[in-house]
Amino acid sequence: TEACVSAIEGADALGAFVHKTPEIALEQAKAADARIKSGDAPAMCGIPLGIKDLFCTKGVASQAASNILEGFKPEYESTITQNLWDAGAVMLGKLNMDEFAMGSSNETSAYGNAVNPWKRAGDDAELTPGGSSGGSASAVAGDLCLAATGTDTGGSIRQPAAFTGITGLKPTYGRCSRWGVVAFASSLDQAGPMTKTVRDAAIMLQSMAGHDAKDSTSADLPLPDFEAALTGDIRGKKIGIPKEYRMDGMPEEIEKLWQEGTEMLRSAGAEIVDISLPHTKYALPAYYVIAPAEASSNLARYDGVRYGHRAKLAEGDGIEQMYQKTRAEGFGHEVKRRVMIGTYVLSAGFYDAYYNRARRVRALIKKDFDDVFAAGVDSILTPATPSAAFGLGEMADADPVQMYLNDVFTVTVNLAGLPGIAVPTGVNAHGLPLGLQLIGRPWQEDELLNAAYALE
Ligand code: GLN
Repeated sequence: TEACVSAIEGADALGAFVHKTPEIALEQAKAADARIKSGDAPAMCGIPLGIKDLFCTKGVASQAASNILEGFKPEYESTITQNLWDAGAVMLGKLNMDEFAMGSSNETSAYGNAVNPWKRAGDDAELTPGGSSGGSASAVAGDLCLAATGTDTGGSIRQPAAFTGITGLKPTYGRCSRWGVVAFASSLDQAGPMTKTVRDAAIMLQSMAGHDAKDSTSADLPLPDFEAALTGDIRGKKIGIPKEYRMDGMPEEIEKLWQEGTEMLRSAGAEIVDISLPHTKYALPAYYVIAPAEASSNLARYDGVRYGHRAKLAEGDGIEQMYQKTRAEGFGHEVKRRVMIGTYVLSAGFYDAYYNRARRVRALIKKDFDDVFAAGVDSILTPATPSAAFGLGEMADADPVQMYLNDVFTVTVNLAGLPGIAVPTGVNAHGLPLGLQLIGRPWQEDELLNAAYALE
């Protein structure tokens, strides 16, 4: 913990930690020491973690990287972070992210972006750590903490993990409680571990996951022993390669990585099968209707009364002006764009044409996966991202849809509620990390982690 606290002090340039809590960390570390000495040391005992700013942490600023939550210090602790503290983990502070988890580059953060510790060989340009869990990825890859929490609504754990050469797991929807995690799109949001290795992901998930009566979508199912599942034996397992993920214009380095990953699993004894997930091409448009729709509803609570920031009002301003000015000042561009798209697709005249149609497409996407799993496929191998990490600022002024294309391989997993993991499996010609994604059957993170372990 002391080593991490001093590493964080020297790493402000990474922009990973936005609220540092060294006093809490040292106190928790002392308590962990005592637990270890007394022989009662759970798996996470004494492990120093960074926590994404989306998690409510009691008495510690929790702003979702938004100005609208300026000064907000929750009176409560999210279930997941509480589970981690109960398991002996240590909190180093809160981590940067895209505002309300909307983005793929950490550039929508009200604090300014986090930076990827990796650079292209021979090039000083700063790269994005990805997003929205960019601070988490930067902190783990930059050795500022041993692991971090992330959240993933459309790829926000897996894409930054792939961009920074770490492991990122999005569990099955309902595996980890959403209670106390600031809501973006409630039917898609899921928290998970961002770690240096697959084994660390297994250990950390064990402490994070589990039923929680405070989240009605949290599953009351037994937890497998995730670490015990890591045998590395995948002989006879069927791994599907979906043809729809072979996109036009896919960079050669991604194609090659995918091929190498396939061969690796084959030589470990898995049976490789070609599969089809026919509705894949509708996933991105469906996601960018459903996620903003839910976001516009969830963000209605930031009204200048209940949380954080309230705009200064002029003489004669009424409650309408208070809402308008507060929200105009408090939310950034991307969040406003999502609220506008969301209210549009939910409005009376367009509800059926957009929102309901997207929900039907979502059901078809889920059925694609159900069919493949019913046919005996154990897991599915795809690229995690369509490229390696890109330069900061490179996409910021582009058409927002260009940024949304980052999520092309990851959103299907959220729409179908499945577990997905990004594993670092190579570097490109510029020395930048690349990752592959494995998608598993619902509630079988143990199987999924074992397949990832074979790929690692
Ligand atoms: N990049 C996607 C978005 O902006 C996903 C974000 C996420 O998973 N939180 O919506």
